[in-house]
Amino acid sequence: MKSIKVFAPATVANLSCGFDVLGCCLEGVGDEMVISLSDTPGIRITKLEGANLPMEADKNVASVAVMHQLKALNDTTTGIEIEIYKKIKAGSGIGSSAASSAGAVWAVNELLGNPFTPAQLVPFAMEGERLASGNAHADNVAPALLGGFTLVRSYEPFDVLKLNTPKDLYMTIIHPQIEVKTSDSRKVVKPNVTLKNAITQWGNVGGLVAGLYTEDYDLIGRSLSDVIIEPLRSILIPKFEEVKKASIESGALGAGISGSGPSIFALSKGKETATKVAESMKTIYESTGIVFDIHVAPINEDGVRII
Ligand code: ADP
Repeated sequence: MKSIKVFAPATVANLSCGFDVLGCCLEGVGDEMVISLSDTPGIRITKLEGANLPMEADKNVASVAVMHQLKALNDTTTGIEIEIYKKIKAGSGIGSSAASSAGAVWAVNELLGNPFTPAQLVPFAMEGERLASGNAHADNVAPALLGGFTLVRSYEPFDVLKLNTPKDLYMTIIHPQIEVKTSDSRKVVKPNVTLKNAITQWGNVGGLVAGLYTEDYDLIGRSLSDVIIEPLRSILIPKFEEVKKASIESGALGAGISGSGPSIFALSKGKETATKVAESMKTIYESTGIVFDIHVAPINEDGVRII
């Protein structure tokens, strides 16, 4: 039986101004998966450790994503067995479901001799996201598959690109252990935006992309601003404003909601600043009595990889 073990990375979606289109991939925070080819046709979840998630193939995002991948190949004979070792909690806002979908399709592609490019795998992994949240968004699965920072330029037709990663960027993430389901936090988002807010938002998206390419850390910081989603969603996250303010006072370039929350991210120049930011986040959350995890992570340029 041919088998590979992969690291399925956590990701931060939206990055303040880029709701549903921007995301970035983290190093050192993520799940592990073992994917094997089997002589018995069909897709099975054979092991799931570290979380209480469905093992039925039609309810787990990993197997659902692979089903779409094999269907695109008109493949009805391949057997796939999936073991998931969860380290990222579901509903944390750092792409738990995306890590499983992306890890599974990437590993199956590898086992089948790479019939798809990483960008071509994104739509299959998005079907896992459709199962998890009711919406086939790509802002977590794209960075998990391509690595670094990614931009979904268009959903119809689908067009995703990998952006430049400035070498000195570090992410600090605090995950308060309260569950905010993506499907719930989507409900607070309004369907319409004002032209004034849209202008501010697309100015910041352009600024952030330009800042990533020119490695202009101040421009990155100025562009990490969200006038559309954050004001609505941040009320679901205890101490959001305090954490954001303290992070920036400790030297972070900017901070915001990671994906749909409740995790809060801050981007900093250099590991030392990112560690200082972690300390200030910790001080604030210690007073709440809410259990939390904090990660300081470099940006992962590779995405899913064999370990
Ligand atoms: P996150 O933003 O951290 O991915 P979501 O709330 O979007 O969290 O998705 C988690 C949902 O997806 C849960 O309802 C969970 O039961 C479901 N799910 C199904 N399979 C998996 C999996 N392999 N990993 C994580 N979540 C999964």
